[in-house]
Amino acid sequence: MPELAFDCVIRGGRVATAVDDFVADVAIKDGVIAAIGRNLGQGAAELDAKDRLLLPGGVDAHAHIEQLSAAGIVNSDTFESATVSAAHGGTTTVICFAAQHRGMNLQTVVGDYLALAKKGAVIDYTFHMIIADPTEVTLKEHVPALVSQGHSTLKVFMTYDLLNVGDEKLLDILLAARQSRALVCVHAENHGMVSWMGKRLVEKGYTAPKYHTISHPRGCEAEAFNRLIAFAELIDQPIMIFHVSTAEGVAVIRQARGRGLKVFAETCPQYLFMTAKDLDKPGVEGAKWMCSPPPRTEADQEAIWQGLALGDLQVISSDHAPYAFDATGKLMAGHTPTFKQIANGLPGIEARLPLLFDAMVAKGRLGLHKFVELTATAPAKIYNLHPRKGSIAIGADADIVIWDAKRQVTLADNLMHDGARYTPYAGRTVTGWPTTVLRRGEVIVRDGKLAAKPGSGTWLPRAGGAPAAPHGRLTADADPVRNFGAKLI
Ligand SMILES: [Zn+2]
Repeated sequence: MPELAFDCVIRGGRVATAVDDFVADVAIKDGVIAAIGRNLGQGAAELDAKDRLLLPGGVDAHAHIEQLSAAGIVNSDTFESATVSAAHGGTTTVICFAAQHRGMNLQTVVGDYLALAKKGAVIDYTFHMIIADPTEVTLKEHVPALVSQGHSTLKVFMTYDLLNVGDEKLLDILLAARQSRALVCVHAENHGMVSWMGKRLVEKGYTAPKYHTISHPRGCEAEAFNRLIAFAELIDQPIMIFHVSTAEGVAVIRQARGRGLKVFAETCPQYLFMTAKDLDKPGVEGAKWMCSPPPRTEADQEAIWQGLALGDLQVISSDHAPYAFDATGKLMAGHTPTFKQIANGLPGIEARLPLLFDAMVAKGRLGLHKFVELTATAPAKIYNLHPRKGSIAIGADADIVIWDAKRQVTLADNLMHDGARYTPYAGRTVTGWPTTVLRRGEVIVRDGKLAAKPGSGTWLPRAGGAPAAPHGRLTADADPVRNFGAKLI
């Protein structure tokens, strides 16, 4: 028998990318897309996609997986459970964290997370390195070495007692990133405000989960964004602002981008589909909706949609951070904890694409191309995974989701595959659902059933690329031509 031209051909689907929309066959050879056209030759495997969309696999650029928190709790997922959950939701690439804590050797930390992912992941992965202990050795030796090995984003916290690095160290980290050409992602909230409000609320007996939303007063976001942007401008270092939650935060980003600064920004489904009222439940039930920053108001949701429409925000990630609603997770401090004793974070790696497809395509907000852009193409570009990931194109990895645009699904706790065993979106009906998911040409979910082996995902080394490159425009204070010759950057 003559050898067939292709390993797999997906027939007659409606291919949708961030720019195109057409009906075609997509042929796969050796894990990559080999041809897109009409009446392509036979494949060893054939998949029928008539009346279905073909979307690039989702790229989730912010997920906490098997991660140790500063408080010493490991979240509810292993790499296997989180990535199986991602795959069921149509996501084929994840950027998760290698989380340094104080006193830890960053190189050891990265090696440990790589080993965990190698064992369990069913989708492809790459890491942001959390810098919580920016010692001289970390910044001068380990960061440059690790960036050159393919770990090209750093993540920094401006809040949390055990994670926030403080203003001067943040400047050191931005400079180290500039010298290695890494992008810096930031959890930006004013630490003093969060800490002060938390103490004051608890002292006065306001301890229910809903007070968590008050403890991160909305002003703490815009304040930290402004400070961070001033720092990034001084160092001439590109930044990504994580999980934008307020209208004022969007405005600060718009203004900075309007001045030509290299500021990228992300939001998450919880800031588009939830409000602070979701935490107002009897007893500690509201803990299931607790994340940081907290969900805000409907007016903030509108401002964030507007920021996405205008391009001020470029990426929608899950910020998947699952804690089970029991003594292993949310209720670690017992059944009557104060909100300060409850782990922050929501599961969301699986629901991200269905929730957004429902809002953006089925209900029409911003449309199909923008949906693909915000959930796959733009994150792949900003994190320098494109053109390998994030689109359907010849030569790209064959990460393809066969998507039923008409299927209606009511989200429920037992529908999700992650370790949290609940979803904050239970009861919500969405239109549009992934049916079959391919990762590098291999079917990993078929008609809603898992078909992948743990460890079949692969690590994606990446350089910082153009998004991480500094402008080369120094402020007057940092520019030797204008600062009396002082070479600082
Ligand atoms: Zn996060």
